[in-house]
Amino acid sequence: MSRCYALIVAAGSGERFGGSTPKQFRDLAGVPVLRRSVLAFLDHPAIAGVQVVINPAHRAHYDAAVGDLPIAEPAIGGATRQETTVNGLAAMASRDPDHVLVHDGVRPLVDAATIQRVVDTLAEHRAAIAAVPVTDTLKRAQDGMVSGTVDRSSLWRAQTPQGFRYRDIAAAHRLPGAAGLTDDAAVAEHAGMAVAVVDGHVDNLKITTEADLARAERLLSGRSGTESAAMGAADLRVGSGFDVHRFGPGDQVTLCGVAVPHDRTLLGHSDADVGLHALTDAILGALGEGDIGLHFPPSDPQWRGADSTVFLRHAVDLVAGRGGTLRHVDVTLICERPKIGPHRDAMRSRVAELLRLPLDRVSVKATTTERLGFTGRGEGIAAQATATVGL
Ligand code: MG
Repeated sequence: MSRCYALIVAAGSGERFGGSTPKQFRDLAGVPVLRRSVLAFLDHPAIAGVQVVINPAHRAHYDAAVGDLPIAEPAIGGATRQETTVNGLAAMASRDPDHVLVHDGVRPLVDAATIQRVVDTLAEHRAAIAAVPVTDTLKRAQDGMVSGTVDRSSLWRAQTPQGFRYRDIAAAHRLPGAAGLTDDAAVAEHAGMAVAVVDGHVDNLKITTEADLARAERLLSGRSGTESAAMGAADLRVGSGFDVHRFGPGDQVTLCGVAVPHDRTLLGHSDADVGLHALTDAILGALGEGDIGLHFPPSDPQWRGADSTVFLRHAVDLVAGRGGTLRHVDVTLICERPKIGPHRDAMRSRVAELLRLPLDRVSVKATTTERLGFTGRGEGIAAQATATVGL
């Protein structure tokens, strides 16, 4: 199988964008734009790895957005888009890729099917780009008056990803005249390569203005699967999770990310945060992605004493990688002691912060089992959770 890498170009300065944070690092429904773009490829089975190119002035933004993800050290962009791509391609050379998909960091809504179509087409063609047909009627105008109508029947709007054989596109970028070309397909055309057009997706928009960001937010909040779209309803998935941890000697427990003083602690391989474990399983359940043990095997020593927020963040990333949004979560802690009531608001705020959700989309509650069963006897704490995900 050929090794296909993604090169994500995110070195733009964002001059057209208001505010001090460049658009690729802005928050989009709880997840930075660039993180969504990276996750779409990182989570894709046809992609072996991801390389990002950034402006060195944005290093702190980059670290905050994707610094924790398993991707290569970022390459440094150049003065032009073309130079930036050249630097990114050079940074990937040691991994000897067969194919590379070049993608705009500011296209966070790229879908897995589009990526797959570009990859598949590279089996037959030297270059392939995602594009959508032009549907608006095009007018030529002069001094505010229409001077003609343009035949749109053969016109397409180029998107990314744009896929190439790695060696081909690296060589094409070195040819005289490549500098100044605005996308990699143009560089390939300039080198005489035949470039295939594959169906992109109208939602795969490029975020260049505040209005684009707002549109992307609307698309994510109303996103519908193909089947449910036909029924006019968003594709909502509800997952459930359940977990139990046993008490042992200690002086505090961690519940929903909050340390609660107690005369016992919870035993477990990680920090034993039973609430976040149930919640993580609920999110994984909504995605049909197995359970927490599958993603973070208890047999793996690197998770010993781990902060369970890492598990939760991974589940949220999987949602973002599927182009989805987390809509609502509900956690119930089941124990006699410690008393949850005094800590409930802190737990709810902490979970909302971890998930980057508004408080009214997060519920944390508690119950006892009337002193019945293992929780009633104070042998441990149980938790159950549901998560609603829009895909
Ligand atoms: Mg657990």
